[in-house]
Amino acid sequence: MKIVQCWDDGVNDDIRLIEILRKHAAKASFNLNPQTHQAERKGGHSEKWGKTIQRLARSELAEVYTGFTIANHSMSHPRPTEIPLEDWRSEVFDARKILQDWFQQPIHGFVYPYGDCDAATAEVVREAGHCYARTTKNATPCWVPKDPMFFHADCHFLNKEFWSLYEQAKASECGVFYFWGHSYELCTEEEWAGMDDKIARISADPDSEWAELTDLFNLHS
Ligand SMILES: [Zn+2]
Repeated sequence: MKIVQCWDDGVNDDIRLIEILRKHAAKASFNLNPQTHQAERKGGHSEKWGKTIQRLARSELAEVYTGFTIANHSMSHPRPTEIPLEDWRSEVFDARKILQDWFQQPIHGFVYPYGDCDAATAEVVREAGHCYARTTKNATPCWVPKDPMFFHADCHFLNKEFWSLYEQAKASECGVFYFWGHSYELCTEEEWAGMDDKIARISADPDSEWAELTDLFNLHS
């Protein structure tokens, strides 16, 4: 079974997450909003999470994400269906162009901010040249999506049913298990250790191999 994962928003905790991913030779894609990456890290203390959450500085991005795939998460992270469609078009097209310039890799993937999407906003994403767009809905088996512009992952990484869904995906012989999240959702040392264990367990599973989302669509960067 191919295992794919992606992480949203380009925040400071991606650095620690990536250390874990590198340690276990895991592949992943990171979904970024170019407008949120400025000369300095931006953000601050989050009451909700009880920690500092910052968007990485523009100058850090290339080094932090070396060896990983980048996908488009729109320019500024608006709610897609709540802004004029023409503004949404700029959010999608401009971000794709900038990310391709910054990372010198083709950008094939898209993730809807807040998972918010409908037929019209999805069509814009398709027109811009993306081969898939992830929602925040769950579907097991996740593969093959009926419409790749509404690609539902198996689950969020903190889903209590994570391993049972993993086994279900394996048993279904769909060939893919897909999970996602935000690195800032890892707060305690216990949660970080749990993440390390999760990635290690997948890497050690002889029935699984890490894959790029673009591999699923026969696209290579
Ligand atoms: Zn997001």
